[in-house]
Amino acid sequence: MSRIFNFSAGPAMLPEVVLERAQSEMLDWHGTGMSVMEMSHRGKEFLSIADKAESDLRALLSIPDNYRVLFLQGGASGQFAGVPMNLLGDKRIADYINTGAWSKKAIAEAKKYAQVNVAASSEAENFTTVPAQDQWQLSDDAAYVHITSNETIGGVEYPFTPDTGDRPLVADMSSTLLSRPIDVMRYGVIYAGAQKNIGPAGLTIVIVRDDLIGHARVETPSVIDYRVQAEAGSMSNTPPTYSWYIAGLVFQWIRQQGGLASMSALNQRKAESLYAAIDASDFYQNPVDPNCRSWMNVPFTLADDTLDKTFLEGAEQAGLMFLKGHRSVGGMRASLYNAMPEEGVRALIDYMHIFEQQHG
Ligand code: PMP
Repeated sequence: MSRIFNFSAGPAMLPEVVLERAQSEMLDWHGTGMSVMEMSHRGKEFLSIADKAESDLRALLSIPDNYRVLFLQGGASGQFAGVPMNLLGDKRIADYINTGAWSKKAIAEAKKYAQVNVAASSEAENFTTVPAQDQWQLSDDAAYVHITSNETIGGVEYPFTPDTGDRPLVADMSSTLLSRPIDVMRYGVIYAGAQKNIGPAGLTIVIVRDDLIGHARVETPSVIDYRVQAEAGSMSNTPPTYSWYIAGLVFQWIRQQGGLASMSALNQRKAESLYAAIDASDFYQNPVDPNCRSWMNVPFTLADDTLDKTFLEGAEQAGLMFLKGHRSVGGMRASLYNAMPEEGVRALIDYMHIFEQQHG
């Protein structure tokens, strides 16, 4: 089988060494004669896997002791409801910043539970930027302020950590968590679906500050009630055990690579080389404000969109997979999560040059 590079936005590439390790442990985990898939989540074997994953994640992100880490099901979309249900308390208003398709989904779901104030939006700029903090109209009595740290479809990433005063900052980090260091203390809640930088689909990480636990509305389903899940060690119901295990292997791999500082340097190099190639040509375009360009998802269009199909077919033949842009925006999108090697980005840039020579 020849080498392929998978540019999918998620589920996405995983580090090859992680897959090999999972393969070697598939039938017999550490001499137990069992696959991790077959283990009780309450047995000592799985509990050791779960604890190690959490401590490695805590080490990677320097998560302070006054934050709980939850390993849940339901995806980031589950948290679109989980956040308002857990955080509104006796307040009614929640502030949201609208930077694109995923912000809009979060807003639509929150409207079922809260009075949503869209405190700033880049819709007038066609979601090519992040509104500067001095333009935000935050509510005095917002229960929290919600941002989408990286818009996976639009390829727009926050170049700053907002300051929301004493209103807790809540961030959907689905497509950026673990790609670079962050200061967890600046946030009240961070959540992310796993299927980009963390591991397989089916796992959702929620990092929540202690004082924000225990205020869920009575009708909140127990499985997304932060207090219930924190008290149960994320096991009030059966957690996504296999995804949790693979995520743990990914955390070990990131630590072996030198942690988030190394990941960040690598991701910056990958993204900047691809943006430089796009900017150097009139054949390719990326519309995003250079200051807010995502390191993780790089959308680009061809000057002549009738060539899109030919571009994608040739890419696939060269082993460059899943470059088709999201159906809502068209064009191409290259997702460059942690597991994408620099070699993959170089192969994409080489292919883009050749395609331009042939069709430009
Ligand atoms: N938020 C962002 C930024 C995403 O990229 C995605 C998925 N691509 C979601 C939320 C939804 O995640 P899930 O499918 O895990 O519910």
